[in-house]
Amino acid sequence: MIDLHTHTCCSDGTDTPEALALAADGAGLEALALTDHDTLEGLPAFLAQQPRVKARLIPGTELSCRFLGRSLHVLGLFVDPADRVLEGRLAEFRRSRTERNARMVARLNALGVALTLEEVEAQARGVVVSRVHMALALMAKGLVRSLPEAFDRFLGDQAPGYVPREELDPPTAARWIREAGGVPLVAHPGRFAGRSFGWDEAMDRLREAGMAGFEAYYGEYGPAEQAYFLDLAARKGMLPCGGSDYHGANKPHLRLGVGRGRLRIPGEVLEGLERARTGGAWH
Ligand code: AMP
Ligand code: MN
Ligand code: MN
Ligand code: MN
Repeated sequence: MIDLHTHTCCSDGTDTPEALALAADGAGLEALALTDHDTLEGLPAFLAQQPRVKARLIPGTELSCRFLGRSLHVLGLFVDPADRVLEGRLAEFRRSRTERNARMVARLNALGVALTLEEVEAQARGVVVSRVHMALALMAKGLVRSLPEAFDRFLGDQAPGYVPREELDPPTAARWIREAGGVPLVAHPGRFAGRSFGWDEAMDRLREAGMAGFEAYYGEYGPAEQAYFLDLAARKGMLPCGGSDYHGANKPHLRLGVGRGRLRIPGEVLEGLERARTGGAWH
């Protein structure tokens, strides 16, 4: 059993990278990947735990793209954690968050919500400041009682405080990942669109954009979705991958390895991904 999609406090999760790595064996995992959004920050501390952990620890990241007018996430597994070019690209990409955060705070202020950018930034424990940190700041001030309430009332994609951020196009994300020795994979396609969507054609386009595969296993899929995306991967000749999308206490319903409880990703999935590696020489 493996888990190839998780987050720490370096982006929008709550565990430290060390604690996440040290939880792998207890969760019964043979392999665990850390895939924080827009950063490689947690990877050295995560990988440094390898001597203490039987599970294989794998570096990764998760990038946000724009595809067909909507947000599509892309995982880069096996990226070189010390790749300076990728780190520079991600630092620049994170600036779009900084600008967006300021605009969201201004909107919230206009709605009569007293929140400052400093209060939001004080909630972040790494270089990534996301909407989760806005939600935590609203909670800390007693303006909402829970994270879901913060998103429903103020921060969610349909809520009045929302401002979209700049996103990459899929070929750019795939190229950044490949140039850092990684394997580009579409994250949770089932969250982008359901089974009635024209996935056959869309996956052809994403493969042409450079994606090697996609998450056929995912912490929030039901059995029918998993079966559908496994079949789609076989039909398209693309690699299935998957993970829980664990975020610690920020998404308490998702547990390491098992997601909502029934996820079990077989170790063979990792063997397919290994074959797709482009020869990054970081390890
Ligand atoms: P950002 O990357 O800044 O757009 O923020 C995305 C973060 O907000 C992720 O951790 C999401 O899981 C979280 N998020 C987005 N929408 C919701 C929602 N409706 N309820 C709870 N968390 C959400
Ligand atoms: Mn997240
Ligand atoms: Mn995602
Ligand atoms: Mn994720």
